[in-house]
Amino acid sequence: MKSLGLFQTENYRAREVDAASKLTSPICSSLASQAALGTMHGKAAALLPSFANIGVDLVVPNDLDTDAFGTFTGETKRQGTMLDAARAKARAAAQLTGLTIGIGSEGSYGPHPFVPFIPAGRELLVWHDTRSGLDIIDMMIDETPSFAHRDIKEIADAEDFLRAIDFPDQALVVSAIGAELILAKGIRDQSTLLDATRRAISLSPTAQARLQTDMRAFMNPRRMVVIAKLGERFAKRLTTLCPVCNHPGWGWVGTRDELCCSACGCQTQLPSHDVMSCVACHAEQLVERSIGAEADPTFCPSCNP
Ligand SMILES: [Zn+2]
Ligand SMILES: [Zn+2]
Repeated sequence: MKSLGLFQTENYRAREVDAASKLTSPICSSLASQAALGTMHGKAAALLPSFANIGVDLVVPNDLDTDAFGTFTGETKRQGTMLDAARAKARAAAQLTGLTIGIGSEGSYGPHPFVPFIPAGRELLVWHDTRSGLDIIDMMIDETPSFAHRDIKEIADAEDFLRAIDFPDQALVVSAIGAELILAKGIRDQSTLLDATRRAISLSPTAQARLQTDMRAFMNPRRMVVIAKLGERFAKRLTTLCPVCNHPGWGWVGTRDELCCSACGCQTQLPSHDVMSCVACHAEQLVERSIGAEADPTFCPSCNP
């Protein structure tokens, strides 16, 4: 397997790290009927329907503080990768409910990895089996996330920004620039916004407030939409059995990048196949992405070194 898209590397890392233990893990052929969802930000509402469709009840523990695994506003730094954080939530939820399956979710928002100056979001879901240690993982990229900020000296400077992000459906976080101070989160009304902005400006050494989109799922309607879509795709994956061992979770894990040059036939680094795989027995199947496709010589290491 050669290079993978940036978004897929964690799937692969997980497969490599856990490969040894997974080879000896017990093989199951049916899904658990209950799973613990490690969430406190309302994600259950987005995920419940898809899981109900495949006969899995999601149980949300009352006393799980997922902020302990990292916050978007930086009070608590996330430990490890997105997958580490999602798996930790899944394990904690399983432990609190006494169930063997935990589901964890994690979002990450920042600059787009390939396109300069535009933001992108990644949403990851993991189904973690605490007995076998197996993870079934899927990730979705959102190229139009609700993820933005505006630095202002007075509230009038924010009018177009507030319209663009769809305030108050999309909630805001207000902080004082230069003071590392968050004045308020989850702001969804004008008077709280005005009050927090005034206080931020007065506390900031440069007299500036930062207004940023609240990235917690229940405060960010766009995230809820993407998590719901990911849930649908994930449910399909969970009910797709490995053709070799019948374990649930057969699906796409990455690409093989060996598309041949149309001029000289050399291999380029463009994707030629999708790789489908099983988390339990590691069977793999290559599916040609586009039958008979060839790479433009621009991307060929021999024709265009
Ligand atoms: Zn060539
Ligand atoms: Zn298998």
